[in-house]
Amino acid sequence: MTALKPDDYIHSDFKADAQATPRDDVKPVNSAAVRPNRLSYVGRVAIHPKRAKGTYRNIKWAVMAITLGIYYLLPWIRYDRGPDLPNQGVLIDLENNRYFFFWLEIWPQEFYFITGLLIVSALALFLFTAIAGRVWCGYACPQTVWVDLMISLERFWQGDRNERLKLEKMRWWIPVRLYRKTMTHLSWMLVGVATGGALVFYFRDAPTLAVELLNGTAPYYSYVFLAIFATTTYVLGGLSREQVCTYMCPWPRIQAAMTDRHTLLVSYRTERGEPRSPHKKGETWEGRGDCVDCKACVVVCPAGIDIRDGSQLECIQCALCIDACNDVMAKVGRPQGLIAYETVAKQEAQACGKHEPFQLIRPRTVLYAGVLALVTTILLVAWFNRKLVEVNALHERNPPYVQLSDGSIRNAYTVKLLNKRYEPREMELRADGLPGAKVTIVGEPAGSSGRARVPTDTVREVRVLVSVPAADAAKLANRSTNFTMVLKDIASGDESSRTIKFESPEK
Ligand code: SF4
Ligand code: SF4
Repeated sequence: MTALKPDDYIHSDFKADAQATPRDDVKPVNSAAVRPNRLSYVGRVAIHPKRAKGTYRNIKWAVMAITLGIYYLLPWIRYDRGPDLPNQGVLIDLENNRYFFFWLEIWPQEFYFITGLLIVSALALFLFTAIAGRVWCGYACPQTVWVDLMISLERFWQGDRNERLKLEKMRWWIPVRLYRKTMTHLSWMLVGVATGGALVFYFRDAPTLAVELLNGTAPYYSYVFLAIFATTTYVLGGLSREQVCTYMCPWPRIQAAMTDRHTLLVSYRTERGEPRSPHKKGETWEGRGDCVDCKACVVVCPAGIDIRDGSQLECIQCALCIDACNDVMAKVGRPQGLIAYETVAKQEAQACGKHEPFQLIRPRTVLYAGVLALVTTILLVAWFNRKLVEVNALHERNPPYVQLSDGSIRNAYTVKLLNKRYEPREMELRADGLPGAKVTIVGEPAGSSGRARVPTDTVREVRVLVSVPAADAAKLANRSTNFTMVLKDIASGDESSRTIKFESPEK
């Protein structure tokens, strides 16, 4: 099979006459027939998808508006955490090692919550894939959403498919072509800058950073990351488009492991559609299939394939071909659903004249849902039982102990007092399991008895001295004795503890 030349696709024409169903003379540039060697890279042939109209297109518009709205606006939403804390709703505060998500705050030592969240997301993806194939790819994947946005901008400046095809036939220097192409690329770059800009706003206070970016005083890495993300958005969303899904993304190859014969996939109902052929008004439908070979499903496809060739790796399951075909079926007076979400099991059963209902509950979906529920429950229990007070202690080794003039033994520790509450807290340190021990926090007033104030949502590092009177030290069985350093939040009674050693002279 010879490779498809760009002109085969780009210079196709929309044909219609009074009787025949309108049809596009188009070849799917990425189908197996024109690209038999699917493992090796094949240069991109431009695809000019026609605008689809219908239920799935509307769903995609809605998902696009919601996801882009969230992405661009989220850093600008304010959330009051009190006077000493950032008021940005969602903030990845790398300088202070904190991750803020409205009322939630993740500390570095709680990073396992992020890991847990990623596991929950992956399991949810497995479950949805087992039920309805590549729904993530078709509707919500950032690549799909941004490509959709870029195609919409292209359509805005250059018109729908047929207008774009006419533009492609013009020489590059014809002013109308030059103007429309330039405006398209400029809009893509603007989207790239907005996307890169929005991303860096998640890492610093958005209004402050916006001003800094404009007057050139932002940290240099903000410009670097903005430039990187602006370029990748322009290249991946505007120029590479479906090639990212075909060549760069591992998911099309992995997702097959999550699907089975009962997974809903965008499918062409061969039994009903074949034999296909153009149809003229008034002609009988006897002895032929419902497919009028209009290729409306091909011209709307952003992946450049023909769904009638069967399940293909390039298909992102966006369902736009369902909308296009339903439109055609309505026009020719045939039932909708020649292309539809269908399971392989149902198609096979229909070929034998049987009926196979959709099976939502099956071992695979039960397993994914069960593990998802389990991990989510563990995560929620861990979250609601997380400590808002924590203590970490490190024994000072040089010297390991000091013997004071009254014979008592003193050890020194570097201790971190964590207060995760959005208000300053009065805390108290004590040494459990060490008879007669006295705890002193260096720098605190005399008589404070191990008490210290820890500011809002912070870690206070202090030097702590633990002294054991000579009489009690003499009773210690070993040179090295384990005891528990306990930190108590006076107001709430919350406690956190660490086991650590107390060193004393050789007996
Ligand atoms: S074949 Fe249909 S579902 Fe698959 S990518 Fe093309 S339009 Fe989307
Ligand atoms: S499947 Fe539907 S849209 Fe595609 S060529 Fe046949 S009739 Fe046209």
